[in-house]
Amino acid sequence: LTLPLADLVAGLLDLAPELVAAARQALRRTEEQRARLVSQRAANQLRMLRAFQEVGVTDYHLHGTTGYGYGDAAREALEAVYARAFGGERALVSPYLVSGTHAIAAALFGVLRPGDHLLYATGSPYDTLEQVIFGRRGLGSLTELGIECTVVPLGPDGQLALPPIVASLRPSTRLVAFQRSRGYRWEPSRSLAALGEAIRAVKSASPGVVAFVDNCYGEFVEDREPLAIGADLMAGSLLKNPGGGLAPVGGYVAGRADLVAQAAARATAPGLGSEVGPLLDLARLFLQGFFLAPHFVGEALCGAVAAAALCEEVGLPVLPGSGEDRTDLVQAIRLGSREALLAFCQGIQQCSAINSRVRPEPSALPGYRDEVVMAGGGFVAGATLELSVDAPLRPPFVAYLQGGLCWEQTVCGTLAGLRNVLQKGFLAR
Ligand SMILES: *Cc1c(COP(=O)(O)O)cnc(C)c1O
Repeated sequence: LTLPLADLVAGLLDLAPELVAAARQALRRTEEQRARLVSQRAANQLRMLRAFQEVGVTDYHLHGTTGYGYGDAAREALEAVYARAFGGERALVSPYLVSGTHAIAAALFGVLRPGDHLLYATGSPYDTLEQVIFGRRGLGSLTELGIECTVVPLGPDGQLALPPIVASLRPSTRLVAFQRSRGYRWEPSRSLAALGEAIRAVKSASPGVVAFVDNCYGEFVEDREPLAIGADLMAGSLLKNPGGGLAPVGGYVAGRADLVAQAAARATAPGLGSEVGPLLDLARLFLQGFFLAPHFVGEALCGAVAAAALCEEVGLPVLPGSGEDRTDLVQAIRLGSREALLAFCQGIQQCSAINSRVRPEPSALPGYRDEVVMAGGGFVAGATLELSVDAPLRPPFVAYLQGGLCWEQTVCGTLAGLRNVLQKGFLAR
């Protein structure tokens, strides 16, 4: 009695028959892949449940607090749950970390000292982190404070280049940073297996070095987290995976207790660390969002696999392919022209629950080099565990699709995007 999803969506959007056929085919051939994702989601979800139980979270922890937040029980429970679920000794989780960039900057500024060397092992850092490390003089970037940074490009195959990474280690190298997700680049993301191998190589050459992972978009995608494969410290954004679509702001740092303490001393002030900062009325949203995060990450992954297959059906290059293993939420789709890119992004916007009538336009954004178009109407502004697509306006005009709290919406948005692109004749078939 229930129609297949492709036909349900076709009834909602005005789809050409060829696109409906492509959608049926794409969904049929990803069934197995999506079933695998659902069973992995179960493992991550049960690990999360156990973390809540082991910490002993109670309804008392859901209540609001104000003021300085000394001894804020909700914050302490939240940080304990994060530490457990991520396999770290300690975590800093805060609405006063306004984004992933802020959390990562707190970790880097917290751990590094003047004269230290920072090795970035995964090619150019994410756009906003380039500013943190190399930014304009006068704003106090890491470089300006006397922390030297070397960036080791990825190998010709787009993978971590181990020999050059090890060769770039110096006696003063204090921290080696790895970015797990591809960011806004047409290259493969780094799996935990690949990161683990690189961390082992770095540590056997230079045992005292801190291995740091920018874990943005990676949480709950694989069956483990970077701390389980040798990383000492990791950080990310609550507007992405661990916010579970409910956290309205925030960032986290997790890992070795001494390093998290250094990040906390930078995030607030030396001596205050994570002893201050009330959760206000956010405790429930933070805790409930984190609890639901593995579930929604699983939904987003099913949506990404389906989106990849839909694009493959109409001949668009995608990364990763629909059948490939994933380590992050980002689905790159190469549209090839500015017009096709904007038409696709408008389709995603048209299938948002919020602001579906808004027309996304490219604009300049602080921290980003090129104009960026950002589409998607989330319940939390800019949150990218919700269905969204970002794209810097530069060749080869790649759309970076991510999120989707329910995979049906991702299928709907992708089909609307492809419909727009095909209707305007931007896709030479
Ligand atoms: C999103 C992202 C960041 C920055 O997080 P914001 O919350 O946008 O500041 C850093 N690194 C990577 C790989 C990201 O995807």
